[in-house]
Amino acid sequence: MDLFDLVQAKKIHHAELSAERAGNKVSGVEARVAELENRFNRLALINHALWELLKDRHGYTEEELRDWVTLTDLKDGKLDGRVRQTTAPLNCVKCNRVVSRAFARCMYCDEPASSGGTFDRVH
Ligand SMILES: [Zn+2]
Repeated sequence: MDLFDLVQAKKIHHAELSAERAGNKVSGVEARVAELENRFNRLALINHALWELLKDRHGYTEEELRDWVTLTDLKDGKLDGRVRQTTAPLNCVKCNRVVSRAFARCMYCDEPASSGGTFDRVH
């Protein structure tokens, strides 16, 4: 193997490492997108169910819904199409220790995370 071959082999090795790192980044992004899709689908389901319940049981109209969406949006002082996320920690329903909303299970006793509020699992 001459000097040219060694340089080429080194370049190929670096290219392979770069491709591997890029592949790992793509896998991480794909997992994050899947998580966001799950949250979006859950949120859409809850919203749909709530709206059907309100229409069916209380006779609310689309216009009332639009007005209420605007009022809810303005609760944080900005009409930006967003609602402020709750970041307060949750308490485990089994051991009552404080657990992060980011985890699906209690890190102390492995109890599945409580869904204290209907929307807790969508944030
Ligand atoms: Zn626990």
